[in-house]
Amino acid sequence: MDEKQRAHLEKRLLEERERMLRTLAKFDENFKIAMEENDGDLTNYPFHMADEGTDTLEREKDFLLASKEGRQVYWIDDALRTLYKEPDKYGKCQECGDEIGFERLDLVPWVRLCVHCQRRQEDRMEQAA
Ligand SMILES: [Zn+2]
Repeated sequence: MDEKQRAHLEKRLLEERERMLRTLAKFDENFKIAMEENDGDLTNYPFHMADEGTDTLEREKDFLLASKEGRQVYWIDDALRTLYKEPDKYGKCQECGDEIGFERLDLVPWVRLCVHCQRRQEDRMEQAA
C-alpha cells in the first residue's frame, strides 16, 4: 500500500466515523448528552490513542458496544489506532498476516480479515449455530 492509498483510507475512516457518530447522536439520548458536553462538535468527539486498560476507554467501549453504530465506531477507532500507531500492520489480515487488498479496504476500511479468513470464520460461525 502506498502513501496515497493510506491517506485515502484514513479519510474514508474519518468520514465513516463522523457519519456513524451523527447517526448515534440522532437515536441515542445518552450519546446526545455526551456530544453536547463536547460542544456538539463531532470532530472533537474524543478519539483515544491510549492503549486499553484506562477507565475512560473501558467505559467508552461498553457504551459503544451497546449499539450497532457504536460497534462500527469502535472498529473504526481501532483501525485508526492501528493506522496511526502501527501503520505497517494496517491493511493486513489479523489472522494470516496477508495483505487484505486495497479494493476490499476501500469498501470496508476497518476490515480486519482477508477474504479467505473471513469466509473461514463465517463457516465456523455457521457450524456453531
Ligand atoms: Zn487472512
